[in-house]
Amino acid sequence: MNLKNKVVIVTGGAKGIGQGCVNKFLNEGAIVVTFDLDREAMEEQASYAKKLGAQYSNYVVDVSDENQVSTTVAKVVADNKKIDVLVNCAGIQTYGSVTETTEELWDKTFDVNVKSMFFTVKHVVPVMKNNKSGSIVNISSVQSLVSQKSVVAYSASKGAINAMSRAMAIDLAEFNIRVNIILPGSVETPMLREAANLHKGSQSVDEVIADWGLSHPLGRVAKTSEIGDLAAFLASDSSSFITGGSYVIDGGLTIQVPVVLPGK
Ligand code: NAD
Repeated sequence: MNLKNKVVIVTGGAKGIGQGCVNKFLNEGAIVVTFDLDREAMEEQASYAKKLGAQYSNYVVDVSDENQVSTTVAKVVADNKKIDVLVNCAGIQTYGSVTETTEELWDKTFDVNVKSMFFTVKHVVPVMKNNKSGSIVNISSVQSLVSQKSVVAYSASKGAINAMSRAMAIDLAEFNIRVNIILPGSVETPMLREAANLHKGSQSVDEVIADWGLSHPLGRVAKTSEIGDLAAFLASDSSSFITGGSYVIDGGLTIQVPVVLPGK
């Protein structure tokens, strides 16, 4: 992948998909910086990075707060002189139909899922422009394309990420800054386990996740490392002519129609 010594910021990097991305970049020899709220999980990550002999730092940042984002990006630049890659993974899953969703929940969903990406990209781009290159990867969801019940604000926020990322890709192309979007299906993360716990009824969380896995033609949910592999490809020079792309990674979930032939 040739990511050695690339300076990579991963938001939401302490857990879940973000952690899968951080691990991949650390193993590829990148200089990784995690922005997250979870100090304890980032300390564990620091120990892992130390064992690998990798360069790693982390910051407790609420990425939905512009002031925190801008001051932390400035610290990263002071320490590393450049930023090559930004992977935006921080996000929250929220539930509610249109009538159940309060304005507060709508705003919170958009603040964390969408406005955070607007802030991180806004403050990282001037640094990438100086460097005359950059790669930005924004994590969306298949729920930006298809929906399930009771996810109005979440689906809308993921659709907004797709549209915003394409608009950014057009504006930033002249500076050799690429912007791409990853749309995962179900991925084994703390967020997915929380969702399974919420809907489990008499089943265990593992049983619910195994059942959800069966709705993906490959028969399972994704591992975070599989999303990390795609993020690393999009971050690297191996994808140097790819920008504004949307990459579904869902084990075939969204290629199906819910029609089963008799006897199959
Ligand atoms: P997760 O909850 O397991 O991890 C999210 C991480 O983001 C956590 O470490 C959390 O502390 C951090 N975070 C949350 N709010 C933050 C904030 N304001 N500032 C900084 N950090 C913050 O979630 P995940 O499953 O890894 O999801 C990551 C992204 O992938 C989300 O955008 C989610 O919508 C998307 N996604 C997840 C799945 C899935 O099945 N897990 C599927 C499709 C898309």
